[in-house]
Amino acid sequence: MDISKLDNKINPSGTMAISNKARELKKEGKPVIGFGAGEPDFASPDYVVDEVKIAADDPKNHKYSPVAGLESLRKEISRTTFEYSGVDITENHVVVSNGGKQAIVTALMSILDSGDEVIIPAPYWTTYPEAVKLAGGEPVFIKPDKKDNFKISVSDLEKAKNSKTKLLVWCSPSNPTGVVYSKEESEEIYNWVFENDIWILSDELYEHLVYEGKTSPSPGQYDKELKNTIIINGVSKAYAMTGWRVGWLVANSNVIGLAKKIQSQISSNVSNISQIAAETALKNGLDVTEEMKISFNRRRLYAIEKINEINNISVGNPTGAFYLFVDVSHYCNGNYEGINSSIDFCNWLLDKYFIAFVPGEVFGAPGYMRLSYALSDDELSEGLERLNKAVEELNG
Ligand code: GLU
Repeated sequence: MDISKLDNKINPSGTMAISNKARELKKEGKPVIGFGAGEPDFASPDYVVDEVKIAADDPKNHKYSPVAGLESLRKEISRTTFEYSGVDITENHVVVSNGGKQAIVTALMSILDSGDEVIIPAPYWTTYPEAVKLAGGEPVFIKPDKKDNFKISVSDLEKAKNSKTKLLVWCSPSNPTGVVYSKEESEEIYNWVFENDIWILSDELYEHLVYEGKTSPSPGQYDKELKNTIIINGVSKAYAMTGWRVGWLVANSNVIGLAKKIQSQISSNVSNISQIAAETALKNGLDVTEEMKISFNRRRLYAIEKINEINNISVGNPTGAFYLFVDVSHYCNGNYEGINSSIDFCNWLLDKYFIAFVPGEVFGAPGYMRLSYALSDDELSEGLERLNKAVEELNG
């Protein structure tokens, strides 16, 4: 019996694939070090866990709750969206979803019609093109140069735009490059979006994780009515809460109306317990984030230095998120152990040295690999030592 043609169109998540493979190898007792999926190595804050234990005892939380999310959480999201991102919204502009991922798919389903084109700057987070396709749209990629720090320009956008262009996907600080656009650079892009009257989906999951200079302003600051802007955010990265699966979208009332319809048919409300966890995290502020940032920054600087010491491998100086996007193209040309691509290179590193990186191909950038430095200092130094050894082996 046939299954949907979607099967030939959609790829599985490349980041999840690497973490699954690493997990399997670990189960077999292999000493795997995971630079793969980006998730803080810290436990969720104690006050979150304490509050959740109380919430679990309350029968009210054992029942369905509003599709858009608990009102108290949505109020907290509107407060923090204003405080941190400068976008003045109410709880009615918010739909809480199972992680940023579901918020993205729901937002795209609320905007796109079949055949609408979506501009995605590469390297991109592996989920964006698949989410666009799931929503019936067509991804159109623009590929900025490494020498421009992978940053797109208005002229790149001009070239990609046509009458079918409906939306630009925007992520700064960027997953997977860690690059952060300045205020001026962001404003140029936003002005182009508004002048051309297309949508911008701004993934702001990493807004707090910036180690030098300032984070990028949200497009919502310049689009007070959220005419063109949808913001995606969540608690996963800034509060070490990846497993609780709480993200959200912020948009105007038309988008929210449709997003609620869609979510009411797909998943109803997010687990009440997880929503209470997210609300507690937001209420307690960013102290915990600032503490994690000290560790992330130490690891970032260490990893940049160590990587650039390795033969024919290089990385720039990305100032945000917790990723480095490493140029390994020198080793992907068939001259070393039959390695013909960054997929081959990453597989070889995992199979032989038990170090897991995500190959650039899944982010639309062959010849690179992504490294998450959100792992312990000991693992980071051991893992990079293994990488150095592996490269030495290749160089004979
Ligand atoms: N967003 C993280 C990453 O890029 C988690 C994995 C995922 O959801 O893709 O690694």
